[in-house]
Amino acid sequence: MVFTGDGKGKTTAAMGSALRAIGHGMKVLMIQFIKGTWHYGELDAARLLGGALEIRPMGRGFLKPGQSTPDPQHIEAARQALAAARSAIESRGYDMVILDEINNAVDYGLLDIAEVLETLRLRPPEMHVICTGRNAHPRLIEEADLVSEVRAVKHPFDKGIRAQRGIEY
Ligand code: ATP
Ligand code: MG
Repeated sequence: MVFTGDGKGKTTAAMGSALRAIGHGMKVLMIQFIKGTWHYGELDAARLLGGALEIRPMGRGFLKPGQSTPDPQHIEAARQALAAARSAIESRGYDMVILDEINNAVDYGLLDIAEVLETLRLRPPEMHVICTGRNAHPRLIEEADLVSEVRAVKHPFDKGIRAQRGIEY
């Protein structure tokens, strides 16, 4: 499954899917490709769920827009996150694996789409994998079973309202 587009709701849609799956006794892993610095509410919510949801922030924070050559630190972090995704997928230890912001990591040139697709193809048929982030690669869209695009209509940021607790983080 792919949640993409320029509107708000991609990661929260993935979290909603996780909550639904957990209700059926499923085990969920979320690997965060870009996030890693901020403290998100879902990290504490995961602890309240008692091990059914595991979240691993493996990014180095948001990248500066317009940077043509990505920082080697960001590349290394993304590579490690993809390796973690690969072992989680191969382990068959999860019913759902969420690769949060992996689309952005590909879009920023941190990861090669061919390597990402190769990793996703290792998925056992009964495992759900969700890829989130803007600008999903056309090849990922082609191979996915479900693609939803969130379109930005309005966002409070446009009125100067900064990130809100419980909404953005
Ligand atoms: P969320 O995690 O809230 O579901 P998202 O995953 O759809 O958001 P990202 O592209 O990951 O969105 O962006 C992360 C942050 O950017 C969020 O805090 C979100 O509120 C903000 N954001 C998303 N879309 C917009 C927009 N169109 N204008 C301004 N800020 C936005
Ligand atoms: Mg997101």
